[in-house]
Amino acid sequence: MNPELQSRLPLLRPAAQSDPLGLYLHIPFCLDRCTYCSFTTTRDRSLQPDTLARLIDDLAAWGAALDRPAVDTLYLGGGTPSLLAPDELAALTAAVRAAFDMAPLVEATLEANPGTVDLAWLQDARRLGWDRISLGVQALDDTLLSRLGRIHGASQALESLDLARRAGFQRRSADLMVGIPGQSLSKVVEDARTLAATGLEHLSIYLLDLDKACPLRGEIDAGRLTLPTEDEVADVFESLQVELPRLGLEPYEISNYAHSGAESIHNTRYWERRPYLGLGPGAASQLGDFRWTESGNIALWAAGRGEVDLQELNAAEALAEIPLLGLRMHRGVDWAALRDRADTLDLRPTCDAWERQLRALAKNDLVLWEADQVRLGSRGMLMSNSILQIFI
Ligand code: SF4
Repeated sequence: MNPELQSRLPLLRPAAQSDPLGLYLHIPFCLDRCTYCSFTTTRDRSLQPDTLARLIDDLAAWGAALDRPAVDTLYLGGGTPSLLAPDELAALTAAVRAAFDMAPLVEATLEANPGTVDLAWLQDARRLGWDRISLGVQALDDTLLSRLGRIHGASQALESLDLARRAGFQRRSADLMVGIPGQSLSKVVEDARTLAATGLEHLSIYLLDLDKACPLRGEIDAGRLTLPTEDEVADVFESLQVELPRLGLEPYEISNYAHSGAESIHNTRYWERRPYLGLGPGAASQLGDFRWTESGNIALWAAGRGEVDLQELNAAEALAEIPLLGLRMHRGVDWAALRDRADTLDLRPTCDAWERQLRALAKNDLVLWEADQVRLGSRGMLMSNSILQIFI
């Protein structure tokens, strides 16, 4: 374990024991690199054995260091976790169960990519206790998928969702992307309808993010492809806000829609600032007011080296995160509780200044106040990036 973290263990341990943890494991391998990807992932599968060995070591080390804390949500993300061989997935799952108290577990999600799963693999995963699957569908249009550099086509995406259902995954989610060059509004809505018709219980809608250098950014900068305008993208999100509830998928967070009771419990913990431990290259953790990110250099990480980026939030930063993250959720934030918290931290003037700004935004329904509960309205959700600047 990194010495900086080791020295903080007396503070991290009580935080890990105060509330069941979310445990995130990162599998940084993909068959190919998508043209827009900025995640911690590689095509170099020769690193896979060492990466898994370190993950298993880290699970044992962290479980012991934190006194075998309780875990209520487990998430295997990537990369492409569905590239793990069945015995690798079994070994990783066994290492989790050996190191942590899994009695309170209520959700175990694995991410998978269409084109990398078959029925036998999915059935194995179900037998190991994974009960929720999130598939990176992105679009149901072969031209757009090829533009994104995805390895799958539209029919494979639908087939993977069906295989997951047949393998016994009752909890299925898909990612859909908005803002792809050449993507029309009507096609996004049509894709959402097609996905909803498969009976999946959860849909994540993401805006294509090209902030970092990547091949797709290069194509756009060279003028060979054009991004939809901001107005066109806003029209898509507005249409989805109307259409998805008609399909039984209610919004519960800026990017996420679900059947009632089928919200992602693991992801909700991030917006509620509940504790989580992330293991793997580039994985993030938060225990108490400590937050850290593992090195994103996969080879160094797999070799047991690499820096950890550790940050300790001060009282004002920790308080600001409550509305910053909480307002992403459809139910919003209990402002009376936030005010009480601010009082105990001697930060009432800061909290009152935020309140004044949010009340000013209520005039045009960007922010909605219902007694002491505050949340973003539907237009506020579309403009959340600028509204949430209040807390930064
Ligand atoms: S599948 Fe996901 S993680 Fe892998 S290269 Fe594509 S976008 Fe990146």
